[in-house]
Amino acid sequence: MLTSPYYKGDVRFRGATYEGIHEPLVSPEIWYRVQAVPTAHQSSGEKTQAHDHYLKGTLYCGQCRSRLILTNAKSRRGVIYPYFICAGRHAKRTNCEQRSMFVPDVEAAVENYFRRVQVPEHTVTALRELITAEFDRLHATAKQERHAYTSERDDLREERTKLLQAHYARAVPLDLLKTEQDRIASRIAFLDAQINAGDIEYEQAQAHLDDCLALAADCHAVYMSIDDSLRRIANQAFFERLIVTDDSVDGEPGTPFNVFFNPQMQETAARRQSRATESGTQTGDVAGLNNDIMVGAAGFEPATPGL
Ligand SMILES: [Zn+2]
Repeated sequence: MLTSPYYKGDVRFRGATYEGIHEPLVSPEIWYRVQAVPTAHQSSGEKTQAHDHYLKGTLYCGQCRSRLILTNAKSRRGVIYPYFICAGRHAKRTNCEQRSMFVPDVEAAVENYFRRVQVPEHTVTALRELITAEFDRLHATAKQERHAYTSERDDLREERTKLLQAHYARAVPLDLLKTEQDRIASRIAFLDAQINAGDIEYEQAQAHLDDCLALAADCHAVYMSIDDSLRRIANQAFFERLIVTDDSVDGEPGTPFNVFFNPQMQETAARRQSRATESGTQTGDVAGLNNDIMVGAAGFEPATPGL
């Protein structure tokens, strides 16, 4: 975890690492990963079967972290009661003592959990302001980079012209001309791609992040209004895992909800907002945030290296 560029304050950006002047709030990978959210968590390892429960594949045992599996118990009168049981205990792989849990109770506990994590409107506003400020900062950095790329490209174009002139003046032999032209062409292609990519990536990522924030503000209402198959997708979109102990549920949110649902991050956003209000400026003291953010940072997952 500590080897993540995030903790060194470096900014990994389009595959290259830049030394950070300040610790980033959330590394840029997160902004890019955000774009994949609706599909990212849909591969929880279970095949769709007719009798599958929509929570299967998302639920884990609070005692031993094994998956929970479905089982049916039959009463003396022949009524079937569905239960979730710990796969670790069932297979005697762990010393787990988690008792079986009645499926409707677990369903209700998950609904309750969505109610608990749903982000209140005023917190959403604070988070949005914080994220927007962070985006503006990243965007400014990208703009500087693009400026550097553009002037490097101009130089290379000039170099290419001069090279050709030198060749015509018989100062540069043909094989050297070819090698040099190839070098320049591949560097220019790289620079072109960097120059053209930036803005679109940021705009898409920010728009998507905004959508996700709206979802976080509405997650309980959404969850209560959708059918079982959509609930499966919702659970997997919001959470890597839902950890169940008896009838209580705790979640491990996936990106970017691990940021939105993080109480420390919410607090940081609220503090920043009230400071911005006091000083009468909407941009606030972004530089002064870093200590707060690093305290908050311990609570959430670093970006996947190399993504
Ligand atoms: Zn267990």
